[in-house]
Amino acid sequence: IRVQAKVYFDQENKPVRMLGTVLDITEFKRLQQQKDDFISVASHELKTPMTSLKASIQILDKLIKTNGNPQTVSVFVEKSNSSLNKMQHLVESLLNVSRISSGHLDLVKSSFNVADMINESCDYVRLAGDHEIIINGDKNVTVNADKQKIEQVVVNFVNNAVKYAQHSKQIIIDIAKRSKTLKISVQDFGEGIPYDKIPHLFERYYRVDSTGLQYSGLGLGLYISAEIVERHSGKIGVNSEAGRGSTFWFTLPLD
Ligand code: ADP
Repeated sequence: IRVQAKVYFDQENKPVRMLGTVLDITEFKRLQQQKDDFISVASHELKTPMTSLKASIQILDKLIKTNGNPQTVSVFVEKSNSSLNKMQHLVESLLNVSRISSGHLDLVKSSFNVADMINESCDYVRLAGDHEIIINGDKNVTVNADKQKIEQVVVNFVNNAVKYAQHSKQIIIDIAKRSKTLKISVQDFGEGIPYDKIPHLFERYYRVDSTGLQYSGLGLGLYISAEIVERHSGKIGVNSEAGRGSTFWFTLPLD
């Protein structure tokens, strides 16, 4: 609790009245703490790919000066690229959070084929070669939406499926067309999410307690995804069982 008081004096310098305010700052402190924690996590998340990028560039420098093996050169170019992509993704998430706070998450809509969009956004997982992505359902649906932002939702779901289901190698994406809505689901067979944590998943900065220690992340992907889907008047959700895997889904209205 913070107490402030101001005393008012008359012309003869006698105190005539006092104005006091009592402010409960518990919530303010909690938000301040959340902000401090976030800054520390975000700096760490940025530092990791930066350190790795710096190391790769130093190695590349040496390789170039010594006429190194072109195959080794391309390995380190690829590593630099992957670090840069991580940094770009992070900065993009931060920008999106500030766009959401200031009400500037504007949509640029166009018509596109949903299966093609999903295929394109999963290319990077296929290239990495660790996971098999299966796309089921209606391959001919076209939707009128902000393609880049919907792609981001799919990528957030797929990234999480890769990150939190490292031991199971299959990810199933389903495209289901109903009369007035389209439902896209991403299913993994990973560790799943405890029942009592599910209501918090789409909150800003939220991460299930145990994940922070093992996996990198800011707890923003699902929050941003929920905002994007909401701006499209769609719904977002998850069906999950601890130990069995999760199915994250969202819907979009069809015109
Ligand atoms: P981040 O992955 O950066 O922590 P997200 O907002 O994408 O942030 O996810 C929030 C939290 O939800 C994660 O920290 C994780 O605990 C949990 N989560 C998300 N997707 C999955 C998944 N497919 N399987 C298990 N847990 C998940």
